[in-house]
Amino acid sequence: MVAPSSVSKPGDYHKGRPYNITAVRAPPVNAIWDYSVMTGKAPMSTTVSGRSCGECSLCCKLAKIIELDKPDGVWCRHCAPGRGGCMIYETRPPVCRNWNCNWILEPALGAEWRPLISKMILYYENDGRRLCVRVDPGYANAWRREPYYSQLKQCARRIAEAHKQVVVYIRKKAIVILPDKDVDLGDLEVGDQIWVGAQNSPKGKTWYAASVPADVPPEQATAWVMSRAAK
Ligand code: SF4
Ligand code: SF4
Repeated sequence: MVAPSSVSKPGDYHKGRPYNITAVRAPPVNAIWDYSVMTGKAPMSTTVSGRSCGECSLCCKLAKIIELDKPDGVWCRHCAPGRGGCMIYETRPPVCRNWNCNWILEPALGAEWRPLISKMILYYENDGRRLCVRVDPGYANAWRREPYYSQLKQCARRIAEAHKQVVVYIRKKAIVILPDKDVDLGDLEVGDQIWVGAQNSPKGKTWYAASVPADVPPEQATAWVMSRAAK
């Protein structure tokens, strides 16, 4: 296993002006998944041939589903995991009917990403600008294991320059995987934003991440972060 890089705490902001900025509003943590984005990006017809949920019901545990008054991280009251799954399958709400995790939708994901094996669910937020890695709280370190961590880090390095993010969620907790470090943002509250910036330095580009409160306008997020860093 390759050990992940150190996890910084919020407030480890660089005191210079960021070179490259992505300020993306986080999903309201009381409605974690933007299902409309998910289904819009990859409708059911694009499922990978040969892949199906089978015995897996992990999204029935990890998702917060407003229609069912279901909190995230606990099994849906309609689920019998490993014993048939959804007990109201024929009448399950559209939010369940129309959603698939990336393992079902993305042929590039290897067999190791099957949620039953990985204990994680991958999906996109913000029109595909954020790859979300939602981890089963019962296996909170699953994302740090190999071969997962190396793949997530590689993805972060590949997409960061395009102002895209890789964020690990464990219940409300958010950890941003950056090309050169991981940043633990702690628990997010409803509407909080995830800010990512970078700055050139003699040793190469240095990346930063911070959470920004919901009431800060997105266009002022960078100034807000910089003012906090200056204190
Ligand atoms: S997590 Fe993915 S594979 Fe598992 S039940 Fe949900 S959609 Fe199916
Ligand atoms: S209603 Fe069925 S599909 Fe939807 S979360 Fe509950 S068990 Fe899963």
